Amino acid sequence: MSQLLLRGRVLTFIDAPKNIDDTAAYSYFEDGAVLIENGKVARVGEYATLARVAGPQAEIVDHRPHLILPGFIDTHLHFPQTQAIASYGAQLLEWLNTYIFVEEQKFSSSAHANFIAGRFMDELLRNGTTSAVAYCSVHPESVDAYFAAAEKRNMLMIGGKVMMDRNAPEGLRDTAQTGYDETKALIAKWHGRGRAHYAISPRFAITSTPEQMEMSRVLVREHPECYVQTHLSENRDEVAYATSLYPAAKDYTDIYADYDLLGEKMLLGHCIFLSDREISVLAETRSVAVFCPTSNLFLGSGLFDRDRFQKLGARFSVATDVGGGTSFSMLETMAEAYKILHVQGQRLTPFASYYMMTLGNARALGLEDRIGSLHAGADADITVLDSRAKPAMELRMRTATTLAEELFVLQTMGDDRSVAEVYVAGKPMKSGLDKHPFLDGPARSPADLQIA
Ligand SMILES: [Zn+2]
Repeated sequence: MSQLLLRGRVLTFIDAPKNIDDTAAYSYFEDGAVLIENGKVARVGEYATLARVAGPQAEIVDHRPHLILPGFIDTHLHFPQTQAIASYGAQLLEWLNTYIFVEEQKFSSSAHANFIAGRFMDELLRNGTTSAVAYCSVHPESVDAYFAAAEKRNMLMIGGKVMMDRNAPEGLRDTAQTGYDETKALIAKWHGRGRAHYAISPRFAITSTPEQMEMSRVLVREHPECYVQTHLSENRDEVAYATSLYPAAKDYTDIYADYDLLGEKMLLGHCIFLSDREISVLAETRSVAVFCPTSNLFLGSGLFDRDRFQKLGARFSVATDVGGGTSFSMLETMAEAYKILHVQGQRLTPFASYYMMTLGNARALGLEDRIGSLHAGADADITVLDSRAKPAMELRMRTATTLAEELFVLQTMGDDRSVAEVYVAGKPMKSGLDKHPFLDGPARSPADLQIA
């Protein structure tokens, strides 16, 4: 049996914090430790206690004075948009047509898909994210590349082939039948293999015909073990267009409800312009609204109204939405979440932020027994944070007096430089990336453009 003992300041959540002083919501050990056995958390507690419990052969890694937390979880992003991040000047529908539907066509090439998939996984790890839910492109090759890259790193990843059979270039369209057949084959190949989970992924109502939505209904019925993901109510023009394509639906949410796609495994990106009726439908079906702060600001979409979801009892998670989102960092994402809520008079406490990135997102995925908190039996997916990673942070931290303040500085000023180490199933990953920044070989792909 291999044993690894990580020493540092350990923080892990037990429940959602009810207010800024809710110390019952988390466990914190100032001189703490996590004992890892065979890739799983065996015990968490005081270092002095765990040092006695661990066998004499245990390897000890001293991360003091850094914070040891569960690995971050990202519940919505697009792996084929890794190189289209920071595309200038357009709102959702124009941005899709101008940049994204051009970029995603490159993923018909397995070589390109494999190259980007490797870089994508490494970027997640560099930012302390150990699990994510991603859309692949319409091409089955992109799904193979995605899960193969995750498997190589032993990461718990969720994803699926996007299904889209209209309102997109020919090279990005499947049909109701091929979308169904390819999805079935990919589920058979990947779902449950190692740590992989499949997500049935009709992109959104605008790019799926009623025939494809019908096939999505069949897929969801045939595969209740799989996740389902789509987009809902991100942008006002999108809402108008989607509802015009499905005139019989009461509203945008009703389109997905009509095809029986809502449920506790459903993740709906954005959910900005929903009526109380729509949010109540999400609450009744236990569907999850996904708040994507940097994307909603970058694409000029709108402001997620978290308090209304809480009031109506609907579930929500948080995500980067790369490449509409502008950073792979969940810390930077929560910095923008704070501002989006603040401008609406809503409060996001530091502890609530760290709960959302870890246990909150794990609960949204129904994976809280495996990831998102450091409890005995959990997978040892761990992020180690350095709140003094940049000179400006080090200077600011000299005045910090509480853990809450430190967490807020990390969230507001931090990025990938604040991630000192990342463990996936007990294996250190970030230090390896620092030595070999491009695990998958050449730093450039044949598809890279030369900048003149
Ligand atoms: Zn998205």
